Amino acid sequence: MVEAHGVRKTFGSLEVLSGIDMTVSRGEVACILGPSGSGKSTFLRCINHLEKLSAGRILVDGELIGYREKNGRLHEMKKPQLALQRREIGMVFQRFNLFPHLTVLGNIIQAPMLIRGEKREGAVRRAHALLDMVDLRQKADAYPQQLSGGQQQRVAIARALAMNPKLMLFDEPTSALDPELVGEVLAVMKRLANEGMTMIVVTHEMGFAREVADRVIFMDGGVVVEEGPPAEVLDRPRHERTRTFLRRVR
Ligand code: ATP
Ligand code: MG
Repeated sequence: MVEAHGVRKTFGSLEVLSGIDMTVSRGEVACILGPSGSGKSTFLRCINHLEKLSAGRILVDGELIGYREKNGRLHEMKKPQLALQRREIGMVFQRFNLFPHLTVLGNIIQAPMLIRGEKREGAVRRAHALLDMVDLRQKADAYPQQLSGGQQQRVAIARALAMNPKLMLFDEPTSALDPELVGEVLAVMKRLANEGMTMIVVTHEMGFAREVADRVIFMDGGVVVEEGPPAEVLDRPRHERTRTFLRRVR
């Protein structure tokens, strides 16, 4: 489903990603762990081409993201084509980024109506089903500022799902939340995983990684240091860098 080949990213003279190779299969949940500044967010942003790559390529469902290949060279894709690719990839950030002037329902139906041209009735019906899924069926008419952080984040997940993405990217979705609100968001993500969604999740929630991830990927210094089933990487890490990191987060 997702293939990264030799992905490099530099900002000026700073090399943030130094050749990332990664494959995530359909229906798989991959959790990315790693210290601050190791390039986790940058890599996620590369997957939906919020960042241009300095080298390498990323494919989703066999399709090159952000570029067209012509005579062996990559050319940046035009905006409308990129938009078509991006709507297949849902992204949830640390900050919820809901539109404050729209209700919960308004937030969820906006993209399906504006971008996919769905009729209001159908978009609303689907929004209610998604609100059920994130346990917020009573909050359709509330405004974001009337919701807790955990509720807002669940709306953000529902909003991303409204576009029917084939892949969901999560960048530390719970790290801005009060501790007592983390569980409800993780529960929704777990439900999504159980429904078979392909997910790449940057997180510091070791419990979630252990329980839900099919694979844990440890990044440090812009490279994948090691990866494997959670029980292996979290309990029997092979690399010293992984061990040091895990000691610190526990
Ligand atoms: P954290 O756990 O703190 O979120 P991270 O692993 O997500 O860290 P990134 O946000 O990917 O790390 O950042 C990796 C490095 O790239 C950092 O040194 C950061 O300062 C740098 N960086 C990220 N975005 C930019 C940018 N737009 N311009 C310049 N440097 C950047
Ligand atoms: Mg980050």
